Amino acid sequence: MKFETQCMHEGYTPANGAPRVMPIVQSTTYAFDSTDHIGDLFNLPNEHMYSRFSNPTVECVEKKIAALEGGVAAMCTSSGQAASLLSVINVCSAGDSFISTNSIYGGTVNLFAVTLKKLGIECIFVSPEASDEELQAAVKPNTKLVFGETLANPALTVLDIERFAAFAHRNNLPLIVDNTFPTPYLCRPIEHGADIVIHSTTKYMDGHALQVGGVIVDGGHFNWANGKFPDFVEPDESYHGISYTESFGNQAYIIKARMQLMRDLGCYPAANSAFLLNLGLETLAIRMDRYCDNAQKVAEYLEGCKHVASVSYPGLNSSPYYNRAKHYMPKGCSGVITFNIKGGKSAAVKFMDALQLASKVVHVADIRTCVLHPASATHRQLTDAQLEAAGIDGGMIRFSVGLENVEDIIADIAQAMDKLDA
Ligand SMILES: *Cc1c(COP(=O)(O)O)cnc(C)c1O
Repeated sequence: MKFETQCMHEGYTPANGAPRVMPIVQSTTYAFDSTDHIGDLFNLPNEHMYSRFSNPTVECVEKKIAALEGGVAAMCTSSGQAASLLSVINVCSAGDSFISTNSIYGGTVNLFAVTLKKLGIECIFVSPEASDEELQAAVKPNTKLVFGETLANPALTVLDIERFAAFAHRNNLPLIVDNTFPTPYLCRPIEHGADIVIHSTTKYMDGHALQVGGVIVDGGHFNWANGKFPDFVEPDESYHGISYTESFGNQAYIIKARMQLMRDLGCYPAANSAFLLNLGLETLAIRMDRYCDNAQKVAEYLEGCKHVASVSYPGLNSSPYYNRAKHYMPKGCSGVITFNIKGGKSAAVKFMDALQLASKVVHVADIRTCVLHPASATHRQLTDAQLEAAGIDGGMIRFSVGLENVEDIIADIAQAMDKLDA
């Protein structure tokens, strides 16, 4: 099946007479005929037994997303943050380190730099443009993985996935990629060498600002038995001595994440949440095309505005990421644009308050156009000097282009820009 068809048909095929639409299985538990059968499940949980770590409705969505990303299996989580956390601690324990680019989502930076540090896991940040020598210098004997973001929120830097995959694999390490902004419709990191892909499904996959969620996809290619990852190979005493690599082959990573981490931590989505996420996934392909078209036109319009100092969007010829984006995201660069208004914070606030169609929210990737002023919201605690050091201009605006008619979106921007003349 092609991508658009998979969006609708992967994950759930009704049996004769069964509901056409994927049903919501609203049950914490599942009934069995015999005590022995249940006992067997505690040795090898290969059927649903408790909805803290698996549920039939969520499973349909997991199968669909695994197919869309070209992976072998997936596990949904109750948020994107939970997906980032589990993806790392499935590999790293206290005393380990890992390498991440510094151009990643702010919430992920905090998780890696502050919370994981408290758990004894060190994150070494590198520039996504670091040379091969600089990357190699960050590798230590206890380094367990490499992490990056395809199209970073909000910096909009484009990761050179193939170079980072080659670097990781030279060191026998897996590459984990957060693919939230492109979605698998625009980029499939596993095809470029990534081993694990994660998402905040809250964004374009859901698309309707309905449901916070996340997912981890296992590419199935990484060799966990290469000597660096004994937890994957040696018997797991909490599962009667199972070896994940021996029992589950190319699904060792995702089954270990479910059997150990989801069982113990329990950040699994409810069946209802998966049902709503599935509605978003069904239209993902056609929505992404329109986001890309609209954002390209809005970015080109902004470049011509006299009140705009600079526009950052990888689909623009002027972007330093233009060629890389063409390679990794040939169909388009998704819907988020960052731009700087001349006149700093006061001009940006005046422009934002004058917008009538675009909603002012702490969110991106909605069907509705939405807008955020980082200097007064996500980066509010920083002084003007600190903002400058962090590369955030007081005039910076993060603009998430929606699916309205693009002429209405541009007209709204135009009338708000006119207010800056007053
Ligand atoms: C929003 C976001 C997250 C965090 O996801 P939540 O669903 O909000 O927990 C992680 N990565 C990226 C790129 C995001 O945009």
